[in-house]
Amino acid sequence: MSASASHSPPALSVYNTLTRRKEPLEPLRPGEVHLYVCGPTVYSWVHIGNARTFTVFDVVVRYLRHRGYRVSYVRNYTDVDDKIINAAREAGEDPATLADRFVQAFEEDAAELGLIPPDVSPRVTQVIPEILALIQALLDAGVAYAAGGDVYFQVSRWPEYAKLSRRNLDDLRAGERVAPGELKREPLDFALWKGAKPGEPAWDAPWGRGRPGWHIECSAMSEKFLGKTFDIHGGGLDLIFPHHENEIAQSEAAHHAPLSRVWMHAGFLELENAKMSKSLGNVVRLRDALARVDGEALRLFFLSSHYRNQLAFSDDALSDAEKRMEYFYETLQRVDERLGGREVKPGPLHGDPDAHLRAFEEAMDDDFNTAGALAALSGLFGQMNEFLDRPPVPDRAMVVRTLATLRAVVPRMGGVLGVLGNPPAAWLERRRDRLVRQRGLDRERILGLLAERTEARKQKDFARSDAIRDGLLESGVELRDGPSGTQWKIRS
Ligand code: AMP
Ligand code: ZN
Repeated sequence: MSASASHSPPALSVYNTLTRRKEPLEPLRPGEVHLYVCGPTVYSWVHIGNARTFTVFDVVVRYLRHRGYRVSYVRNYTDVDDKIINAAREAGEDPATLADRFVQAFEEDAAELGLIPPDVSPRVTQVIPEILALIQALLDAGVAYAAGGDVYFQVSRWPEYAKLSRRNLDDLRAGERVAPGELKREPLDFALWKGAKPGEPAWDAPWGRGRPGWHIECSAMSEKFLGKTFDIHGGGLDLIFPHHENEIAQSEAAHHAPLSRVWMHAGFLELENAKMSKSLGNVVRLRDALARVDGEALRLFFLSSHYRNQLAFSDDALSDAEKRMEYFYETLQRVDERLGGREVKPGPLHGDPDAHLRAFEEAMDDDFNTAGALAALSGLFGQMNEFLDRPPVPDRAMVVRTLATLRAVVPRMGGVLGVLGNPPAAWLERRRDRLVRQRGLDRERILGLLAERTEARKQKDFARSDAIRDGLLESGVELRDGPSGTQWKIRS
C-alpha cells in the first residue's frame, strides 16, 4: 500500500441491493457522484412515506457533499400516467393542469421539509424525444416489438432480467396472465409505449400516437442528465420490482452498459403495521404532518432509524421528535447566551471536542447510519449541557473556548441532517406559538399575565409574581427568567 493510500480517509460504504452487500463507494469519475432518485407521481398529495424516502436521499446528497464529492442529483416527476389521467377525469380537469398543481404543492412541502432542490427535476412530458429514441433503439436491437398501437419490451429476449430483484422467472410467469385485450406476447412483457385512447394525452410516434409506459421515463431521463452509466440509483423498496428491474432491462439492453453501479432502497414507513400507501388508505399527508410539527422535527423522526429499516409512524413518535428538537434549540440558546458574542481566543481545549464529529462521520460512512449520527449529535449536546450546568474545568476561558468549539460543530452535523438551521429563538417561538394554537390557549392573556408579573417583580411583590407563575404553570405555561428577560414555553 502506498503512503498516500494509507492516509486517505476510510471509504464510505453503501449497501448495494444489486449485490446484496455493503461496498466501498467507488464513483465512476473520481470525486463526483451522479445520483438518480425516482420522484413522485404527481396525481395527489404526497404522504409522509414518500417523504421519508425523499428525505433519506436528501441526506445522502448532503453527506456526499460534506465528504467533498461533487454531486449531480436528479429526481424526476412522473406527470403522465393512468393515475393522473383518472384523477384529472374525476376532478374535471386537464391532466397537465392537475399535474402542474401537484408539482407546485410538492415543491412547497419539500421546501418546508428542508429538501434541497435536485440539480434537475425533469418531467416525462419534457423528455418525449429521448423516450422515443430509446424505444426505437430497443426495437432495433430486437428486444422490443410493436403490437397494435403499443410497444412492449420482450423479457425473454433479455437473459439478465430479474438480476436486481432475484425473482424466479418461472414463478413470475406462473403468476401473470395476459389479460384479455392486451396485445403482449408473453405475460412478463411490459409496455414501453401505450397506444392513444380517446381523451388521453398523446404524442406522435413512428409506431403510432400514444404515451410512454411508466418505466421508460427513468431510463430516458437518467441517460439524458447523468449518462448511460451513473453511480447511485435510489427509491423506496417497492420500486425494486418491477420498476427498477424494468429500468435496468431497458437501459442495459439498449446500451450494453450497466445502468447504475449502486442501487439503494429505503425501507417503508408503516402505519398500524402496514406500508403507508394511498391504495390502503392509511396515509398521513406530508402537508398535514407539517402543520402539526416543524419540518426539522419530521426529519429527525425519519432519520431516527437506519434508512433500510422500516419505521413505524405514530403521533407520539412525532411529538417526541419535536420535543427533542426543542431540547437541541434550548441548549443552543443557552450556549449562545453564555458565549454572548464574545471573541474566543485560541488556546488549549478541554477534552477532545472533535471526537463528536468523528463519531458522526464514522456512522454516516457506514451506509449512511443516521441513527448512529444522531447519537453522535446527542453526545455533542450532552457535553454542551455538561459545560453549561457544571463546567468540568475551573478555567473560565477554557470553558468558553471549548463550548465555542463544540458549538461550531453543530452546523456541520446539522447541515448534513438538514436540521438546526434556524436561529434558536425564532425556532422556539414558532414551536411555542404552534402549541398555543393546538392547545387552544389564549396568547393575549398569557402576555398580559407576563407583563403583570414583570411589574410585580419590579415592585418586589413576590407573592403576586409567584402566584402568576403558578397559575400559568397550571395551564402548561413554563417561565424561565434569564439575562434577557423572562422567556416562556409550553410544557409538553
Ligand atoms: P410514488 O409517487 O408512489 O411513485 O412514490 C414516490 C416514492 O416514495 C417512491 O420512491 C416510493 O418507493 C416511495 N414510497 C412510497 N410509499 C412509501 C412508504 N410507505 N415508505 C417509504 N417510501 C415510500
Ligand atoms: Zn424510476
